[in-house]
Amino acid sequence: MENCIFCKIINGEIPSTKVYENDQVYAFRDINPQTPFHVLVIPKKHVSSLSETDQLNDAEIAACLRAVSRVAAEAGLSGGYRVISNCGPDACQSVPHLHFHVLGGRQMALRMA
Ligand code: 5GP
Ligand code: ZN
Repeated sequence: MENCIFCKIINGEIPSTKVYENDQVYAFRDINPQTPFHVLVIPKKHVSSLSETDQLNDAEIAACLRAVSRVAAEAGLSGGYRVISNCGPDACQSVPHLHFHVLGGRQMALRMA
């Protein structure tokens, strides 16, 4: 997808700090971390958000979730972590390429929003 910053990160046009990659997903450090550990897991196929999972096959969706648990395990987040996917304007999604925030490394607040 032209002009998508996350597609540009996947193809190397924009640099990123990679933490994991396979055929279907890419995971990298968020440029503006909200917690000591803040990684974004994205499918390599461009879809704008969770509203468009019809455009991904089951293996691609599963690969995202497996990558989430893998990067958390490799980071040693034994105390737990939080996964967020902002979807659309009410959720303040700012980059229209599906992504899962993996947040951890400190105690988080009980409230979600
Ligand atoms: P959203 O607000 O769409 O849920 O999350 C987008 C995330 O992408 C934000 O946390 C923001 O810091 C991150 N982000 C935006 N541009 C870049 C970039 O060029 N590189 C990296 N590593 N993260 C980015
Ligand atoms: Zn994209």
